[in-house]
Formats: sequence, structure tokens, C-alpha cells
Amino acid sequence: MNRPLVPAAAGTMCFILFSCLASCPDEARNGGDGGASGRPAASPAPPGSAVPVAWPIIDLNPKALEAESDRIKRMLGADFTARVASPFVVCGDISEASMDRIVTHTVGDYSKALCADFFDKTQPSHVIRILLFKDDESYRRNAIDLFGYDPRTPYGYYDSKIKTLVMNISTGGGTLVHEMVHAFKNYDFPGAPAWFDEGLASLFEQCTLRDGRITGLVNWRLRVFDDEFRKGNAISLADLIGLADSEFRGAGSSLHYAEARYFCMFLQERGLLRKFYREFRDRFPEDGTGGKFVAELFGKPVGEVEKEWLDWVGTLKW
Ligand SMILES: [Zn+2]
Repeated sequence: MNRPLVPAAAGTMCFILFSCLASCPDEARNGGDGGASGRPAASPAPPGSAVPVAWPIIDLNPKALEAESDRIKRMLGADFTARVASPFVVCGDISEASMDRIVTHTVGDYSKALCADFFDKTQPSHVIRILLFKDDESYRRNAIDLFGYDPRTPYGYYDSKIKTLVMNISTGGGTLVHEMVHAFKNYDFPGAPAWFDEGLASLFEQCTLRDGRITGLVNWRLRVFDDEFRKGNAISLADLIGLADSEFRGAGSSLHYAEARYFCMFLQERGLLRKFYREFRDRFPEDGTGGKFVAELFGKPVGEVEKEWLDWVGTLKW
């Protein structure tokens, strides 16, 4: 397949600030994005290991949120501050001002936008913890102390087994939003295949709010897209959509993430992303891949949508 190439040197690759790689334990377990892109993935807890006692699954209610906030703060010590932003309890060794800004903006504003635009059917029914560590040293030391393993990703991850996001917040808020998408999506659309789950989460690694609506922006994954196309490694849109989760996160996962992200962004730019999400979620039994709904929304086969998508990607710059 041919993709119109973006001009060389069309920007600077940036791995930090609001454009971080996010590696979830589930991704890493399958040799996911981080590993295949040459960057490290998170080390998950050993398969089959029990949920650590310190990280219970807690039914969501206002009292439970406050109690968990107090409990975590006591457990982590005097350097930590905690806030409640339902369904999240946020705790970190960062300044009160930074905590207030992250809780109000990154967690509060973006959660509200995500739930209004996408996750409006089934809200989380458990307390979800967000642990924000101020730098790499704190992140790694605490991950070992609290969870018993050294995370291989420098950015952060979501461990859905214990409903906990673990973040090195010095790398920016992009990974946090990516993992928040997974946390909400797991309740609202638990069956979503990896291509759409990761495409949507990756889209919002770099984002803004436009009139209160969350909008993904171009990020470093465009360079991955371009490089892999130049090498002739790209797969067709139909093949991407048809990948099993293990295939998506297996060999070539960096390209799969990039293609999925820019297909979700293409849907967004055509004003179809929210509609696609709802059609796919609500009619999932009709087609677990989503291909049927892509064809319906565009009124043409996926193969023809692909051409339009690639022409659009060719206009992007990074
Ligand atoms: Zn992810």
C-alpha cells in the first residue's frame, strides 16, 4: 500500500510532556508497544500472583473514596498529599499546587470530557487509584516497595487488576490521560478490541479541550507511521481492524499503535469518532472487530475508506 509521505524533518520527536508512550501491564505482558518500539515496557506482577493486600478492590461510594484517600496517604507517608476526584483517589509526593492543578485539570476536566464524549453508559463501580511520583527515582523506588517490581516503562502504566495507575508524573500528563482512557473504557466498553482500545487511548496522549470537548492532536507516533510505511511494513486498514489482541500487541506493535491512533484521529477529524464509539459499543455483538461500523459510517467498504484515510494522514506534519 502506498501512503503519501510527510516531508522529512516535519517536526521534532518528543517523548515527554504531553506525548508520552504509555505501556500498560497488559500491553507489556504481550510484548507490547514499549518493547517493540525500542523503549521499555512495564514489568507486570508475576502471572497468577494474588492481588496484594495493600491494594484491595473497593466498591465506589463517597465514604469509600475518602477512607481510601486517608489510608493511602497514611501508608505512603508525610511526603505525600492526597485528593479525591471520583472515581479516582489521587496521591502523590508532589507539591500541593501541582496536585491541585493535576486533579482539577488533567484528572477533573479530562475525565468530564471523556465521560461526556465517550464513556456515558457504564461508569466505574470501583475506587481507582492514581499514584503520582515526582521523578524517576521516586517512581521506581516506590514501585518496587509497593508492588514488588521495577517498572520497565519510564512513564507510567495502569494495572487494571488492582485498579491503580502508577505514574512518573515528571514525564508529563500524556500517559496519565492515556491510562485514564483505559480505566474508563474497561467499564463502558470492556469488549473493545486492542486496536480501538489503544487507538483511542493513544489519540488522547496529546490532546486539548475545544469547547469542553477532548480533541487529540498530532504526536510523535506520526513519525513511527511514516518510518514504517517507508520501509514497506504497513498493514492495510482491514488487516489492522482484524488483528487479534495478541497480534496487535505482538511483533510490529509500534506500527499497529501508530496506525490505530491515526485512524481514530481521522474519525475524529471527520466528526465520526464519537458516533463510531457508540455504534461499536452498542452493537458489538454484530461485529467484534468494528469493520462493519466503519463501512456503515462512511457508506463504502473499508478498503475505500483506507485510501481517504491515507490521503488525510499525508497532510499531517510532526
Ligand atoms: Zn494503553
